[in-house]
Amino acid sequence: MPSETHRRLTRLSRHFRITGGQGFRLRAFSPDDTRGLQLKDKADALLEESADVMAKLQERLYAQDRWSVLLIFQAMDAAGKDGTIKHVMTGLNPRGCEVHSFKAPSSEELDHDFLWRTSNRLPRRGHIGIFNRSYYEEMLVVRVHPEILGKQQLPAELVTPRIWRERFEDVVSYERYLSRQGVVIRKFFLYVSPEEQRRRFLERIADPAKHWKFSLGDLHEREYFEDYLAAYDDVIRHTASPFAPWYVVPADHKWFTRLVVASAVIEAIESVQPTFPTVDAKMLRQLKAAETALLHEAASVTGAPAPARRPAARTRRRRS
Ligand code: ATP
Ligand code: MG
Repeated sequence: MPSETHRRLTRLSRHFRITGGQGFRLRAFSPDDTRGLQLKDKADALLEESADVMAKLQERLYAQDRWSVLLIFQAMDAAGKDGTIKHVMTGLNPRGCEVHSFKAPSSEELDHDFLWRTSNRLPRRGHIGIFNRSYYEEMLVVRVHPEILGKQQLPAELVTPRIWRERFEDVVSYERYLSRQGVVIRKFFLYVSPEEQRRRFLERIADPAKHWKFSLGDLHEREYFEDYLAAYDDVIRHTASPFAPWYVVPADHKWFTRLVVASAVIEAIESVQPTFPTVDAKMLRQLKAAETALLHEAASVTGAPAPARRPAARTRRRRS
């Protein structure tokens, strides 16, 4: 039974949800926001409760086999994408959940349109798909480093100053199409401050067990921090929609990031109210016949009299 605190937390993510770009300004959000909540010590227990709720919802989603959920994570280095994905998803059944990480594209991927590689990884019906980076990199890293465009094998006349606006339009159309196909899309920008990023980089350098997480390339990208923020601002303004909202998730406090994301994921699955498939009268009759056969089988093996059938009320079809 979810606690009262947990019930209130399920509404937490709404404060960070953007369903339309009008009036959006990234600067209106703060990376160290916690909405005044002092829940750091309780966060693990609350996340465990969320995991239970999520697991139950996922089972229905899977059994119903109609909707799928696509969760897109974007962030600057050290904002906590990996940790958030790990913590929030611990309760999910791996049978119906896949995580895909998208790095710099291969030459084969560059030989196709930019949605090709992610389209191949979309979650199937009943599944939850997690993208660790995504096609949004095409409007983020590629915009901050426009020389990358030169490697994309695009016809020269298509590379114009309008290219970013065109990509925004294409992505919105694509997400509208996916939502009409039953894909529930939620997009997360984990918003870390430059100061907190600096602190986390230093921590990675100081701790031998975290050296593998640090790369000099990350330090180089840090020089473009402001450019990335401007690019994120524009991306969110142009691609937030009711069918594929963005969440600007404060990321300076990991415990808070995780609670917000957990809350949004629960809201996303609940939004389609997945239900277990119902059994029709014919199937019910078949189930009863199977039950009788199994009960008789047990009796003939043990020599004992066949046990009484379960009370009829439990298998009786509900009147609609
Ligand atoms: P971590 O550092 O936590 O392991 P990461 O997602 O930062 O995870 P990296 O291998 O460090 O993984 O970086 C992947 C890089 O690939 C990022 O710099 C990202 O900008 C880049 N990338 C992803 N998609 C594209 C793309 N379409 N075009 C160019 N670069 C891309
Ligand atoms: Mg990295």
